[in-house]
Amino acid sequence: MTKHAAVRFERLLRRLFTHWSAGLVSLVRARRGPLPNLHSQKLRRAIEKLQDEAEKCRFRTLVINGMRDRYERRVSWRVRTNGGRGPLARRTAFMEWYENHVGARNCVYVFWAGRRCRYVGRTTVGRSRPKTHFEKHWAAGVTRVDVYECRGRRDLAALECLAMHRFQPSHNRARSAQQRYLGKCRVCALRRRVRLEARRIFRLR
Ligand SMILES: [Zn+2]
Repeated sequence: MTKHAAVRFERLLRRLFTHWSAGLVSLVRARRGPLPNLHSQKLRRAIEKLQDEAEKCRFRTLVINGMRDRYERRVSWRVRTNGGRGPLARRTAFMEWYENHVGARNCVYVFWAGRRCRYVGRTTVGRSRPKTHFEKHWAAGVTRVDVYECRGRRDLAALECLAMHRFQPSHNRARSAQQRYLGKCRVCALRRRVRLEARRIFRLR
């Protein structure tokens, strides 16, 4: 996957270069058809793709290993088919489980509906924070909640951000790199670097 991502990254970069230099090349070589239309939206989308491929290239080192270094223990709560199925019953079951199985106050939690990640969040006050998500409209489909226990607050923001990169939750609002934890997450730092470098090479006329 990493190797393919690097190939795609380079291919995207070459295509951008061909587009951006077409005006210059047309001065020395006859050209059929109009020059490519360069606009900010096109550049923004291309840079986002470059960021995604760069992230895939460093996925194992930055995301998988980065997460592993930042939590002590992972525990999972699963919805039981016997017992209550309503949101209140689920919330109560989750609270009881949390009380008995989670020791740390600082945790990152991940809500799953089957194999799809619904939400990634963090808490510094134990179960009272993840509890509130059981009232959300998407909570009805939740089948499992993973809780990552963190040693202290220091790594919490970075662990949460890495979990978002890894699991791509469908219901987190702050998803763009700019809104994440600048300076703390190495994946966000990589994405920022790709954007800055690309912006330096490819400018709009
Ligand atoms: Zn990040």
